Amino acid sequence: MSLVTTRFAPSPTGLLHLGHACSALLSFDFACRRGGRFILRIEDIDAGRCRAEFSSALVEDLTWLGLTWREPIRYQSECLGDYSSALDILANQGVLYPCFCTRREIMEQVAASGQAPHGADGWVYPGTCRSLDASLRLGRMVSGAAYALRLDVAKALAVTGPLRWYDKSQGWVPVVLPGDVVLARKDIMTSYHLAVTVDDHIQGITHVIRGEDLFAATHVHRLLQALLGLATPEYWHHHLLVDGQGRRLAKRDGAVSLRQMRQGGMTPEMVRRLARCGWDGV
Ligand code: GLU
Repeated sequence: MSLVTTRFAPSPTGLLHLGHACSALLSFDFACRRGGRFILRIEDIDAGRCRAEFSSALVEDLTWLGLTWREPIRYQSECLGDYSSALDILANQGVLYPCFCTRREIMEQVAASGQAPHGADGWVYPGTCRSLDASLRLGRMVSGAAYALRLDVAKALAVTGPLRWYDKSQGWVPVVLPGDVVLARKDIMTSYHLAVTVDDHIQGITHVIRGEDLFAATHVHRLLQALLGLATPEYWHHHLLVDGQGRRLAKRDGAVSLRQMRQGGMTPEMVRRLARCGWDGV
């Protein structure tokens, strides 16, 4: 049996709030109670939204909360070579294709197709660039048009066969076909899905504990694990804390940050007590 290893993997796009504290504490306590280890990973590939000061702030806030982790912290922005090696393996399997669509074009295509809202984003990529004529595709690439790399999910599932993954709350979950997801963005040759799958493998994560907002993403991660020949961790998608109006806590909606709680005189023990409210324990 491998050593129980959990992680907290925030994106430094703002200050942490109580919802983050809950998630981090669940992961940390889960590992500690099983004599395992806890890892902090900073998911900072989105250069437009991530800021170094939020990375330092979250390290400071989690330390104040009493969390400790295995050093050094892995910063995704420093690991692009690992993602590019994984992308090469997938490219050699013939399951990737370049996508030139802009977000606006995709939204127009989705609206024109009368697609009912579904998928993790509320819509599914209609596959426009999947069937692009090969010479047109090459011509656009040679002319320097920006493109992302998408996973041809149907082709990938034909390679792997049916898949499933285990969730602590839901039991065995069969992989359902999401739309063709982006594995390498136009601005950086990786994406959340690719980076998180590679990192969970490299860091030996045995249990992924994260919010239920990422439940749908796990289908993609399971598919990537199968294509890349990586072990599948167990998952636990916990429910999300909500505010008085039932809205998920989010900085943009004015969720109180851990920093404000601390400055307001709260102790780490008080935050822990709050975080425990509504949780079923580990
Ligand atoms: N970086 C993601 C976020 O902050 C979490 C990724 C994960 O836990 O898999 O929402």
